[in-house]
Amino acid sequence: MTAIDIPSGSPFGTDNLPYGVFSVGGDAPRVGVRVGGSVVDLAAALGEDVFAAPTLNPFMAQGFERWVAVRERITELVAGDVPDPAVHAVRDVELHLPFAVADYVDFYASEHHASNVGRLFRPDAEPLLPNWKHLPVGYHGRAGTVVVSGTDVVRPSGQRKAPTEAAPSFGPSVRLDIEAELGFVVGTGTPRNSPIPVDDFARHVFGVVLLNDWSARDIQAWEYVPLGPNLGKSFATSVSAWVVPILALDAARVPLPGQTDPQPLPYLRESSSWGLDVELVVEWNGEEVSRPPYRGMYWSPAQMLAHMTVNGASSRTGDLYGSGTISGPERHQRGAFLELTWGGREPVTVRGEERSFLLDGDEVVLTATAPGAGGGRIGFGEVRGRVLPA
Ligand code: CA
Repeated sequence: MTAIDIPSGSPFGTDNLPYGVFSVGGDAPRVGVRVGGSVVDLAAALGEDVFAAPTLNPFMAQGFERWVAVRERITELVAGDVPDPAVHAVRDVELHLPFAVADYVDFYASEHHASNVGRLFRPDAEPLLPNWKHLPVGYHGRAGTVVVSGTDVVRPSGQRKAPTEAAPSFGPSVRLDIEAELGFVVGTGTPRNSPIPVDDFARHVFGVVLLNDWSARDIQAWEYVPLGPNLGKSFATSVSAWVVPILALDAARVPLPGQTDPQPLPYLRESSSWGLDVELVVEWNGEEVSRPPYRGMYWSPAQMLAHMTVNGASSRTGDLYGSGTISGPERHQRGAFLELTWGGREPVTVRGEERSFLLDGDEVVLTATAPGAGGGRIGFGEVRGRVLPA
């Protein structure tokens, strides 16, 4: 039996307990929970087959009461001695995509980001389009190319046409970018024609991941009118290996910045509207270039879920929806390089070199923390990705 060591100040203390899927030495992937520098094998520790599955989906599908009960059992378990075969050092395990992604939708919930992109893509028009403050704008992404942190990203090729060019050409993107976001993982969905009320969020959404929505700006700028992003986004979306439970985020809840002008329509009005005080850090080749604050987002996770289902669309276990790029009002709070370098015109210095968009071999790492119930910070792990040549 082992008492799990949790270093003082660890972002993976007992107030966090994020879930992931891991394997050791080529064994079958299974569900674990992160505690300090250890991964606890839940099938071995709790004796339940649902955790021997290669994804979190079967457990998530069991629903809210089970999420609460299992979290209580894990809390008791790790407070005492855990059977030795159930404990592995994080450095000894391989981490996998933690859930099978059902549908993937990406929103656009930061007013600062939407305004900045509006100014960059449509310099002669109002930055925000007329619908933006009435509904959480989103598009349907590609679930099949969601990958776990650590997966390399091959530079996409496609059609690009600069405004100064007469005709499009085909080739590798020369404006490859990131978008720092949070992703929300649906644990239990609803059948068709059963919209999820905005106040039912916590009974349906299991947890939160970090998400990097890799974006080829040159491909995107040419293709997106009038139906929105497609190949400029669908080549890869990276998520963190740890899913932080919504149940771990009570201490991180903060009021939304305010939606008074205009008031949202009734189906988007929460009895007590809230966002999350999550601070992200963006590192480019090991150097911090940005600290996007999630707490300033205009639309809440609950509003996005309610909006996604209000038309009668079904939702299901493993659905993933992204917040959209998180950007604050300051330059060093911008969550995409398009904004950070203002369309490439104001480069940033990364390890002594002037940079605007990603070069082959570049690596981007997103990390994040939030206030935990224990008074410290809880961590979301990281989402890491390196760019390989086309
Ligand atoms: Ca995005």
